[in-house]
Amino acid sequence: MEINQCYYCEQIFETKENLYEHVEVHSSLERNRELNSRKKNKKQF
Ligand SMILES: [Zn+2]
Repeated sequence: MEINQCYYCEQIFETKENLYEHVEVHSSLERNRELNSRKKNKKQF
């Protein structure tokens, strides 16, 4: 049996589709965080 588990928060989903949709949220959050930290770094210099 296949387990569709999110590798970010370890939440388990019944279908791959649900998991993919969920992971999208994490990856967009990560992207935003990266952008924000880059902006902060720029300010420091
Ligand atoms: Zn997750």
